[in-house]
Amino acid sequence: MNCIKCGKEIPDGELFCVECSLNLPTDRQAVSEAPRSAAPQRRMQKPVPVRRTAPQMVGPQVQAPRRTGLRTALVIVSLLLAASLGFLAWQYGNILVERNRLRTRAAALTAEENHVAALEEQIETVTKELEETEQMLAARNETIRELESQLSGSQSSQSQSEYDLTTAQSQLDQLTEENRQLLTMTEDLEKELEALEDERDTLENALQQAETYREKADFMDSYVVFVEDDGTGYYHTYSCRNFLRSKFWAYSRRLAESNGYTPCPVCGGKP
Ligand SMILES: [Zn+2]
Ligand SMILES: [Zn+2]
Repeated sequence: MNCIKCGKEIPDGELFCVECSLNLPTDRQAVSEAPRSAAPQRRMQKPVPVRRTAPQMVGPQVQAPRRTGLRTALVIVSLLLAASLGFLAWQYGNILVERNRLRTRAAALTAEENHVAALEEQIETVTKELEETEQMLAARNETIRELESQLSGSQSSQSQSEYDLTTAQSQLDQLTEENRQLLTMTEDLEKELEALEDERDTLENALQQAETYREKADFMDSYVVFVEDDGTGYYHTYSCRNFLRSKFWAYSRRLAESNGYTPCPVCGGKP
């Protein structure tokens, strides 16, 4: 016979199709009468009504072998039902396993999605922080530029101040040097002045002494005359050129006149 599902030839005595593993009904008549269909369970229930009509059609003399065949068919049907139930249970188990696997995968996917969402949130947060940091950095760069500008300005003013300071220092040094020279000059002048004053004092003393000598000379010239031992009988003043100062006598004028001496014609006997 051929498989009712796929049409392949099945050797006699086989319960299953070697090609599609379809369970085969043992009643070959029922198989041949039944229409071709995909559901094997329905195919297995069909033989019952077929068998119910069969005894009416067949004569009583063939009832004994028919009953034996019926029992065999029932056993086979029971076996097939058990196999179907086992297959169903196995399928159900597979479905349960598959469902658990799918649930596990769904849970894993949900966790994955949550993880991804958390990561996206983290990325958003980090991006915001990055933007804020970049803004802060930009602000700091601006501050640094301002500070550099200020520093440059203060450096230039500092160099100007240093230049001014150097100039002032140089001027101060020059003034100090001039001051020192002036001080030296002052000291020299003071010394010179002191010397001049000493000289003046000396001169004054000398002048005073000269005055004393002049008074003394005037006195001598007024009252003292000199008589040379030359026989002329003249008396001279101290400064007369005929007074030789070799051998002489000194008289007062009155005493010389009372002794008979007369004034010299050159000096007149008085200053
Ligand atoms: Zn088949
Ligand atoms: Zn004289």
